[in-house]
Amino acid sequence: MNNLFISEHPLIKHKLSKLRDKSTEPKKFRELIREIAGLLIYEATSDLLLHRKRVETPLTTTDCFELEEKIGLVPILRAGLGMVEGVWGLMPSAEVWHIGIYRDEKTLKPVEYYNKLPIEPRVSVCLILDPMLATGGSATATIDVLKHWGVKRIKFVGIIGAPEGIQLVTANHPDVPLYLAAVDDHLNDIGYIVPGLGDAGDRQFGTG
Ligand code: URA
Repeated sequence: MNNLFISEHPLIKHKLSKLRDKSTEPKKFRELIREIAGLLIYEATSDLLLHRKRVETPLTTTDCFELEEKIGLVPILRAGLGMVEGVWGLMPSAEVWHIGIYRDEKTLKPVEYYNKLPIEPRVSVCLILDPMLATGGSATATIDVLKHWGVKRIKFVGIIGAPEGIQLVTANHPDVPLYLAAVDDHLNDIGYIVPGLGDAGDRQFGTG
């Protein structure tokens, strides 16, 4: 798959082992989510556009660069929230937009219950954040909403993906690149990624 990027970075692999470990406490778990998000975002933003900027150093003036594109973060609630801090560590001026989507238990279709997007997009690149790309239903629905809103460039940044979710998102949105730390084996019959790390929301917020 052309648009699937799996990080080979040793730091990410090391931190992912700790994240998967069931004995990792919520405080450490949140730290790891933040750190892995920062490392993944470094890779996921390597093609952002720049423009030239003249800068005065204490000695002279010189040509430098500045980011051209305005970036929006769209964390998928609730587990994606923990990734925002990690991304803000590198891009403190990124805007954060919230869209709430849940899966209807009868129809299994995503339902939008909260949307705080303004009428016109104020950003040119949106990074969707969700540690777990499981069925791919929420990611696909979020991309649908963002495209309808008019965002031209969308990227998905997750931590663990299931083959089922990757397949669904890439089939519906082949133009959206996926950045992940790992692809796991399968989804179990209640939608958990195996081997995975359990419920990424519960483990961050201590609600398990
Ligand atoms: N969401 C999670 O938090 N964990 C999974 O394994 C799948 C979806």
